[in-house]
Amino acid sequence: MSKMKVLIADSINEKGISELEEVAEVVVNTTITPEELLDSIKDFDAIVVRSRTKVTREVIEAAPRLKIIARAGVGVDNVDVKAATERGIMVINAPESTSITVAEHSIGLMLALARKISIADRSVKEGKWEKNRFMGIELNGKTLGIIGMGRIGSQVVVRTKAFGMDILVYDPYISREAAEEMGVTVTDLETLLRESDIVTIHVPLTPETRHLISDDEFKLMKDTAFIVNCARGGIIDEDALYRALKDGEIAGAALDVFEEEPPEGSPLLELENVVLTPHIGASTSEAQRDAAIIVANEIKTVFQG
Ligand code: NAD
Repeated sequence: MSKMKVLIADSINEKGISELEEVAEVVVNTTITPEELLDSIKDFDAIVVRSRTKVTREVIEAAPRLKIIARAGVGVDNVDVKAATERGIMVINAPESTSITVAEHSIGLMLALARKISIADRSVKEGKWEKNRFMGIELNGKTLGIIGMGRIGSQVVVRTKAFGMDILVYDPYISREAAEEMGVTVTDLETLLRESDIVTIHVPLTPETRHLISDDEFKLMKDTAFIVNCARGGIIDEDALYRALKDGEIAGAALDVFEEEPPEGSPLLELENVVLTPHIGASTSEAQRDAAIIVANEIKTVFQG
């Protein structure tokens, strides 16, 4: 039987490539254009992408041999899953590969807000020494409100407990047993918002969670509270966030994800009590390596039947 052929269309960790080379002929072309992809996909049994390459219906229809579309990461936003399913093509990803990485980034953003790290950094680089300007707060003893206790939210629980935080969770889909096991208090969204010193969001973006946090929700929060979003842009209503920050309804916000990415022209860019990162929540070498290895192993299992 001729060897299966795999196209690596976006750059993935070397370990994933070498795993695949054990069972398949691997072609790495991480600069492939949409036109080139349409032309060459007919020769491949599997394609591995990250975020750059879009596996559209057109691509899928031009791929008679294709059996697997693998996204070496979380989510499959860049794959037309419906078109793939209609053709019986498996779509796989590695949702667990980045959980610790995103949890750590969320906690990094909490610390950046609590200790004003990014503005203090800027100030020192400007040649200043404004020790009195950067009085912070401890995480110890504060109440953390976690919206969504799935893979990432659970990793946040484990780590923030070690910081001495009391944890409230809002997640209508987790069981009482899961909450008890994690040692957290499950509550409704309103109570969580009223009582938390820091709120961190770890839910998917769905019609139900779009603008989950908007004007009414900010009004419920403490005026000393911070909010962190490393989940998806659109869960926080950014216009409402701007108003809440301007009016002092909350003390600060940290965002890794935005309604528009990049958030060009957003008024949030001008606020001092906001920490922003360019959707790097999953960007660690460990997470990328694990994502590549997980999808490579899944492809191997399918090929080996
Ligand atoms: P997950 O599916 O494991 O957990 C999501 C949790 O949210 C589940 O427990 C679910 O019950 C809960 N949930 C769903 N709808 C809810 C609602 N309306 N209210 C409250 N809770 C609700 O997902 P995960 O792997 O933990 O990922 C969480 C989010 O992080 C996703 O949006 C994902 O896209 C995002 N993410 C971001 C990055 C990044 O680079 N910043 C990287 C990876 C994942």
